[in-house]
Amino acid sequence: MLYRVFDAAELPALVSAFMDGYEVVAPVKRGAHYSFEAISSPDEMDLAYDTTLASPKRYFLPPTETLMRYNAATNEVADFQEEVVPRVIFGAHACDINAINRLDLVFSDGRYPDPYYKARRAATLIVGVSCSPDSDCFCNLWDADEARFGYDLFLHRLGDKFLVSISSVEAANILESAVDLRDATNEDRIEFRHATRARQAAFNPDIPEIQDVAMLMDAFHSDPFWEELGSKCLACNACAAVCPTCFCFDIQDVLDPDGQTGERQRIWDACTSPQFAVVAGGHNFRPTGRERVRHRMYHKLNGFLATYDRMLCVGCGRCVKACKADINPIRVLEFFEKKGAEGAC
Ligand code: SF4
Ligand code: SF4
Repeated sequence: MLYRVFDAAELPALVSAFMDGYEVVAPVKRGAHYSFEAISSPDEMDLAYDTTLASPKRYFLPPTETLMRYNAATNEVADFQEEVVPRVIFGAHACDINAINRLDLVFSDGRYPDPYYKARRAATLIVGVSCSPDSDCFCNLWDADEARFGYDLFLHRLGDKFLVSISSVEAANILESAVDLRDATNEDRIEFRHATRARQAAFNPDIPEIQDVAMLMDAFHSDPFWEELGSKCLACNACAAVCPTCFCFDIQDVLDPDGQTGERQRIWDACTSPQFAVVAGGHNFRPTGRERVRHRMYHKLNGFLATYDRMLCVGCGRCVKACKADINPIRVLEFFEKKGAEGAC
């Protein structure tokens, strides 16, 4: 890995250099919260954020997108060519970069690569920035508190300077043209190590670390805990909307008023929705909150792991904040901690 150092005062110059050729999406403060938005000036960006309400997921997988247009009268289909904007996601935390890496596994690297996702991903540079966890963060439990790949630059804040990890030529050229770079010294590396240790020590110690949670979920699949947890679900789908790794979608054909032409749309869906598992004939494979919430937690902490060798949850803590019914992976970890204390596992 190539490491360089530049003064933090030069950060606006770096953002401006990216803005010359790309749409720059960065964290912006909105009232008491932060959100990723396209900015028109470096002054709008605030990198001292804890977390954003939603992740940058929508820049790769929009909430609604047109896949094709069709004409039922002529039986013609036209692929929809949405303009792909060269874009930089500036200031993503490690958990969100790890979440994008998981989306890549599904939409880019899988058996059926998704051309819409792949086009946006290929046109996007990612500049990561180091963070300090808040009380709901548990990315450290899933090894998602550091991004080892999936970014172009990663800026580690060390006081009044940044230690920058460089992993793409495209971003390196812009960096070099925008700021005064120097080689990292051994002192810089030691400072980086201290900053990393401080971050690791700042995670909430009350969140239990249950490394074998996937196996335990299989053992406790029928436990009344799932009824207790799932019966509280309001089916609002806020958890899926804010989650950086939820990728389920529905396909809908939207007819024009002429009844002949129309478009096929892909729309975010969520397994917590009561309609999600309804099939032809009206049967619902997951009719209650118990089944739906259990399924969601299994996909995050068990099923994806079996296929891709990593959790689908990156521990960003967004669903912890978003769910009004207090349903989230931490409750699952606490359940197994309690079972362990009782000697049940
Ligand atoms: S399940 Fe919750 S904590 Fe895990 S990645 Fe999704 S929003 Fe973040
Ligand atoms: S788990 Fe929480 S956020 Fe998700 S749908 Fe149910 S009530 Fe809404």
